[in-house]
Amino acid sequence: MKAPDDEERATPALRVEGIVKNFVAASPENSLKDDKAGERAWELPLIGFSRGDDPLYEKLKDDIGAFYWTPAEAFGLAFPEKTVDPSELTVIAWVLPQTAATRADNRRRRKYGSERWARARFYGEVFNDRLRRHVAETLNRIGYEAVAPTLLPAWRGQMSERFGFASNWSERHGAFISGLGTFGLCDGLITPLGKAMRCGTVIARITVPPTERPYRDHHAYCLFYTRGTCGKCMKRCPAGAITERGHDKLLCGEYLAKVAAPFANRRFGINIYSCGLCQTAVPCESAIPGPLRRG
Ligand code: SF4
Ligand code: SF4
Repeated sequence: MKAPDDEERATPALRVEGIVKNFVAASPENSLKDDKAGERAWELPLIGFSRGDDPLYEKLKDDIGAFYWTPAEAFGLAFPEKTVDPSELTVIAWVLPQTAATRADNRRRRKYGSERWARARFYGEVFNDRLRRHVAETLNRIGYEAVAPTLLPAWRGQMSERFGFASNWSERHGAFISGLGTFGLCDGLITPLGKAMRCGTVIARITVPPTERPYRDHHAYCLFYTRGTCGKCMKRCPAGAITERGHDKLLCGEYLAKVAAPFANRRFGINIYSCGLCQTAVPCESAIPGPLRRG
């Protein structure tokens, strides 16, 4: 009998990690599409897993509103003919860190985001969509039903009574539940590689041990909430959208629509909401800040 090869021996976790990481490392689409021969948009990702029946998904639905999807509900939209128990599902979450060059450019900005940031926001997110599709399609091909919730036609934003505008599946919350980070004063997810990043998720019928959540509190990595210090993101926001009460989504959205997007369009020819000033020149830009800092 033929001995199993490396691919066959790999655990489901390693196989999924390989699918995500290899695509980010090798795809020419991981690019800012600039004139520097396509400088890469993202560094290598962090990957985490959570169970489809993790009680935090139900709690999120209770908090945000009935329109919010649990993993099983999102999976059911993609595979309406199948029955699934939430315990059979795994949420695969990744964090795509901004490059050092993109972070450095944005760090210098005071009112508008940099060109690299705008390119990462636009072309980088086009790549992130490809990654979502690639992960879901690869898993389906090798026998694990999978869906990227944010690519479902029904994915959209709605008004939550408690939280204002919210989408029916939040990838940042999926990443939080999958052990990848906690929320900061500005609402960004602070990960071991900082909060200058974008997230992605896929839900699959596959058994992968969940990633340990090395925190109990959803603000555990933010210096403002844990030590009453910092608040640097407040000072960085040109719209005054971050205060001690947190992130005002309406003010931020208004600034992005009326100031940041027209600037990016006029200056860089990229029609995108792009700012990210609160994600750079702050202690949580590229690491967990303070005493929990790693690396
Ligand atoms: S800049 Fe400071 S206050 Fe703002 S999210 Fe980061 S650690 Fe928290
Ligand atoms: S994205 Fe820009 S406008 Fe919105 S909170 Fe951050 S700094 Fe403020």
